[in-house]
Amino acid sequence: MFDENTQGTVFNIQKFSLHDGPGIRTIVFLKGCYLSCKWCSNPESQKFTPSVMFEKKQCVGCGNCVRSCPQAAISMEGSNRVDHDKCVGCGTCASVCPTGALSMTGKTMTVKEVLDDVCKDAVHYRRSSGGLTLSGGEPLAQPDFVEALLRSAKARGLHTAMETTGIASPAVLERVIPLLDVVLLDIKTFYSKQHEKYTGLANDVVLKNALTISKLAKNLSIRVPLIPEFNADEQSIKAIATFASYLDNVTRLHILPYHNFGQSKYSLLEQDYYYEGFKTPPQNDIEKFKGIVESLGIECVIGG
Ligand code: SF4
Ligand code: SF4
Repeated sequence: MFDENTQGTVFNIQKFSLHDGPGIRTIVFLKGCYLSCKWCSNPESQKFTPSVMFEKKQCVGCGNCVRSCPQAAISMEGSNRVDHDKCVGCGTCASVCPTGALSMTGKTMTVKEVLDDVCKDAVHYRRSSGGLTLSGGEPLAQPDFVEALLRSAKARGLHTAMETTGIASPAVLERVIPLLDVVLLDIKTFYSKQHEKYTGLANDVVLKNALTISKLAKNLSIRVPLIPEFNADEQSIKAIATFASYLDNVTRLHILPYHNFGQSKYSLLEQDYYYEGFKTPPQNDIEKFKGIVESLGIECVIGG
């Protein structure tokens, strides 16, 4: 059973994507993540509640936001306008800002609202063998919403995919993974200390859950973001590919070269961007890493 009135927090619905699963897809991005990867291209996804974005050059200094915030999370003094630790994402400040300098990302939606929107493109999914992909953030962090969303999507005849960090309880994996036609599982590095240093958490749970997910998934793609200074070296890629070769139901491994597309969002969130000035790894290196993966008998694709 599923309830289309189940609510979740969504921060973007992206149409006509040709990535993150087969065919033409709609990507539904969910708020909240257990990790805080230094290269994250969706930093606004990390907080579980709606996030305030501040465009400094649009601010006229009226002070409405400071006076209206029920959490006293806004100040005209200091380097940052918003104290994101105090902010609860109520949106009052953005609603009283006369210039749009403050805006919110993330809102509560029901399963029905999401799927009514997703199904507007049903004809394109049918023609291209596409469908719905859940992304984030970490979709498994909103298990009731995601389970209801996927059950309802299946009832509406949609192909389903999900991008995941793999971090969830075994019970959540059992509930959600069998509802997916394709699972896109991130394995960022095999080395736990490196994982913790660059994402905020050790990877023990990720690797353990990868074994469970590989048994529950119909079709599993391993995704490796290729990140300078972190894992863009032969030893790291070989270790991930070797681990992947022991998993069940792996159809391919995707290498996703680093890009800085999300950089501008860091300034709107008043956060420092660790990867400022870093470049995409050279094509020669990427091809070499692809060869390492293929030498272990796994199909390797560059990109999503
Ligand atoms: S969203 Fe609400 S809590 Fe957060 S800064 Fe704005 S008014 Fe304050
Ligand atoms: S309400 Fe908007 S324009 Fe006024 S001080 Fe706050 S951010 Fe600036």
